[in-house]
Amino acid sequence: MEGSHPVVDAALSREQELLLEFLRDHDAACPVCSYNVRALTRPVCPECKQELMLAVGVKRLRLGWLLVAVAPGFFSGIAAVFARM
Ligand SMILES: [Zn+2]
Repeated sequence: MEGSHPVVDAALSREQELLLEFLRDHDAACPVCSYNVRALTRPVCPECKQELMLAVGVKRLRLGWLLVAVAPGFFSGIAAVFARM
């Protein structure tokens, strides 16, 4: 059975659609917690809630997909230090 809950989130970007499309038939590990995020329905890791995106990378002369985490929060601490000057 499929299509029981239609996708109503129209705010997905092209990249996010590609990511979900990719994960539909590929195993991939979350770069943050290594959870297998295959067949995700949203570009967010269900385990650690990290937002994910797909990037193209080169590995040993072979073009491949890399799963990367979007973590703007990682840098806010550094920015806060600079702001104290
Ligand atoms: Zn994760």
